[in-house]
Amino acid sequence: MAEIESKKSKAQIHNIRAAKTVSETVKSTLGPMGMDKLMLDGGGNVIVTNDGATILRELDVSHPGGKMIVEVAKTQESLCYDGTTSTVILAGQLLANSEALFERGLHPNVICRGYHEATGMAIKYLKDEISLSAENCRDTLIAVARTAITGKTLENAIDIVAELCVSAVEKAGDAESVKVVSFPGGSLEDSYLYSGSIVNKDYVLDGDDSYNNILLINTGLENEKSEDNVQVQLDAKSYQTYKASGKTTLISLAKNIVEALPKGGVVFVRDAVNDHVCAYLKKNNIMVVRRVPESSLRALSRITKASVYQTPDEIETSSVASVKREKHNDVWYLFVESKKKHNEATLVLRGATSHTLEEVERGFDDALGVVSLVLKNKNFVIGGGIAYARMAAHLRQHAAQIGGRAQMAIEAFADALEIIPATISENAGHDPLDTILAMRHEILRGNTSFGPNVEEGGVIDLADMGVFEPTELVKQAVLSASEVTNSILRIDDIVARRQVE
Ligand code: ADP
Ligand code: MG
Repeated sequence: MAEIESKKSKAQIHNIRAAKTVSETVKSTLGPMGMDKLMLDGGGNVIVTNDGATILRELDVSHPGGKMIVEVAKTQESLCYDGTTSTVILAGQLLANSEALFERGLHPNVICRGYHEATGMAIKYLKDEISLSAENCRDTLIAVARTAITGKTLENAIDIVAELCVSAVEKAGDAESVKVVSFPGGSLEDSYLYSGSIVNKDYVLDGDDSYNNILLINTGLENEKSEDNVQVQLDAKSYQTYKASGKTTLISLAKNIVEALPKGGVVFVRDAVNDHVCAYLKKNNIMVVRRVPESSLRALSRITKASVYQTPDEIETSSVASVKREKHNDVWYLFVESKKKHNEATLVLRGATSHTLEEVERGFDDALGVVSLVLKNKNFVIGGGIAYARMAAHLRQHAAQIGGRAQMAIEAFADALEIIPATISENAGHDPLDTILAMRHEILRGNTSFGPNVEEGGVIDLADMGVFEPTELVKQAVLSASEVTNSILRIDDIVARRQVE
């Protein structure tokens, strides 16, 4: 019996240790003064990043407990784009605090129940009391973007980047609809919002650099390949006729294109286009772009309101749109714009090297994501871990109402929440304990906007500084961290799969 008991706790202790190790790895990156990590990926490439999700993705975690923490970071990233480091640190601290409760004789089930109760209370308080309304306020969106960017490579151009992100999300409606294209070379300040679509393709045959009419075709212009494997014997003459007939049909189809584009232009085709057809069209001042992904065709159609023709027979008219060809780093791109009203937004990012550009892209993803969360849910909280500290204060006040041993777990949950402001302060080189005590003091006095002063230590009014983040981000971080903690605590044994001989 004793043996079974010790085996049980062993699995839990190992899982907790592994999870804590993973969480320790990302801890120093949290907050505006967080450090970066240099990593080598599988292919030996160097990655310099401050992004929790990226670090965890590249880490070679083999322990199941550690893997669960990596998964929770992925979930947070996919739901909220940002807040991955906070989620992982919070989960690590919840687990660490549960270890102390084990030692005091609490059963894992009691801890889980207490944590579950605490999560519900904390989230309710977050939504009802901490969250602020962000109805139609562009300044709030800008502040939210700035908060997500602080401490990242992007910070050097924070004004431009925040403005770009808000404009892009406002135009496109949400972060998913904003396309991001990056070109090495130039500086971050040269980045801009392009109100059109950029196709990563070139004309089949060389042509002019700009055209004013386009046509979209959702098929190919090639001789149909026979699907059946039939062998036919032909004499030389019939073979010539056979080949010529194929060519003639194609050219007659191509004539539809020429009729639709009398002054020349560009035809975007989803599939392959026969070289003869390309040559024939070029003679008529029509450029062919072939193998264009269907998603690009759809985007071009949304921008220019051009119809996407399913076959060349259906072609009726072309549409007005400006197509410009530009070369970046030896690759040609087509920039398509129109005067029609549309929601497409493409962010063109510039940066010196591909390493910095990758980190810039990750920063943009976070910023676009948080802006779209605030735009969608219309609420935000003051950042710097204040929301976590306020939830902690609320839990401590109400833990006694629950009673019994679960109360101890609720208090442990409250203590764990404070790890966020504490770590932000610690990473800035200040004493975390002083910061936490000062924050508790301010909260008690009803000052709800004082959080870590990363410049000078102690606390400062972060609402004045515009440190804002989406309510959803904090809510999801607490939910995910608590959920993964509960599942790790419930595991009492790790069973390996039997090796197949
Ligand atoms: P995450 O991956 O969790 O988003 P970050 O490294 O981006 O981690 O850090 C985010 C935390 O830093 C948030 O809690 C945010 O409110 C806080 N923060 C951002 N700017 C400031 C600031 N100027 N002062 C204090 N805290 C800040
Ligand atoms: Mg962040």
